[in-house]
Amino acid sequence: MEYISTRGHVKDAGSASRFTDILLAGLMPDGGLAMPMDYPRLAASDLAAMRRMNYRELALSLLSLFADDIPLADLKAIIDRTYTADIYCNARADEDPQDITPLRTLEPGLHLLALSNGPTLAFKDIAMQLLGNLFEYVLTRNGQSLNILGATSGDTGSSAEYAMRGKRGIRVFMLSPLGKMSAFQTAQMFSLQDPNIHNLAVRGVFDDCQDIVKAVSNDHAFKAKYRIGTVNSINWARVSAQIVYYFKAYFAATRHDGEAVSFSVPSGNFGNICAGHIARMMGLPIRRLILATNENDVLDEFFRTGVYRPRATAETRQTSSPSMDISKASNFERFVFDLVGRDASKVRELWTSVDRGGAFDLSGTPWFAGIADHGFVSGRSTHADRLATIRRVFERHELMIDTHTADGIKVGLEHREAGVPLICLETALPAKFAETIGEALGRAPLRPPGFENIEDLPQRSVVIEPDVQAVKDFIARHVAA
Ligand SMILES: *Cc1c(COP(=O)(O)O)cnc(C)c1O
Repeated sequence: MEYISTRGHVKDAGSASRFTDILLAGLMPDGGLAMPMDYPRLAASDLAAMRRMNYRELALSLLSLFADDIPLADLKAIIDRTYTADIYCNARADEDPQDITPLRTLEPGLHLLALSNGPTLAFKDIAMQLLGNLFEYVLTRNGQSLNILGATSGDTGSSAEYAMRGKRGIRVFMLSPLGKMSAFQTAQMFSLQDPNIHNLAVRGVFDDCQDIVKAVSNDHAFKAKYRIGTVNSINWARVSAQIVYYFKAYFAATRHDGEAVSFSVPSGNFGNICAGHIARMMGLPIRRLILATNENDVLDEFFRTGVYRPRATAETRQTSSPSMDISKASNFERFVFDLVGRDASKVRELWTSVDRGGAFDLSGTPWFAGIADHGFVSGRSTHADRLATIRRVFERHELMIDTHTADGIKVGLEHREAGVPLICLETALPAKFAETIGEALGRAPLRPPGFENIEDLPQRSVVIEPDVQAVKDFIARHVAA
């Protein structure tokens, strides 16, 4: 499989980009995102064979199509090491933890796909845990090391740290705003004692952290000398690892390969639902991809009107589903590349405007007229909707869901069709969002085993000024150049 850029860059003949070439990179050299040259199409016989597979077998079948420059035996070992019952230990007593992403039926035709059984209780773990093992494999093979620099307001940072802890050749420097994360999130991150994990608590807000990461990344000499990398949401391996659970859920919810299902996906950076789009392009019978946003509705606006208008950071609202509080959707460019018939010059034109802080409008174009052919519909959900949905699901189905999952269920039900199973993706566990659960249900969320007293564990972090040089000095002190 060869990879191309959404903005048209192709390497010279003889040096095509393969999976391991783009694994550690961020943007492509022309500022675009990596995409497979074409999608593998699965035949009916492939689907029939996959129906009988467990999660690890399914992951190997699918990922070997995209990562075909890793010897199959090595890829199998990486996948088998990643998707064990050990890591996905929060499954219910009546579920097989080897299932990794169990499907829970709320009522006939309405399901919840449990994706939050990983170490940080959020769906990002599923891709990130694989990324940690892939990074370690490629770095070891090439005799290289990598220093991951990131900024987090809570979720992505802890997922990355739990994926990279103890990995050979990898150090993590994670900036977070001092005192701004919840006690649970702080405990999760700061209780890690692995020597390769560095938590830097910045005296400032999340934007200060992000600005420092940008400034360090723009210092190309420093970046090269200290081998600085990221694990951001545009990473292709993260997207591809997520294709697997759409297949897993499909087979769990259907009996025959002709049946269609719809998915509802709580969305922010468009990574999760992008994987659903790719699964559909590969031939999985997905009828609708229902995109749910919270009050930060830039994506809902696009799918309703054809106008994509990323917001200024200052316009982004803080909501009770904070992991969906985004002003622009970093993976959206991947879908638009397909939507405009893979015309890279068109993508370049559209993102020239976006990169300058502008917008684009596809309404009135044949592409937008054909958007239904891609299965997408959308909706938005507010704080009041979240509270009502958390209550409704708790009362009707005796199940406690988190605020992001509530956004997905609320919008999913608005687009539910008779006779088409609806699978709502669970993206986090309620234990992480105790305050809103308290507001909705008047009680505290249950915590999975092992998380009961994490606030009491010893914590390890370094307080640092919101100063680029201070962060560079810290990295330089901890990395042998
Ligand atoms: C990251 C995240 C999302 C959004 O996922 P995208 O892939 O960015 O669209 C939704 N819910 C939770 C809990 C998350 O952590």
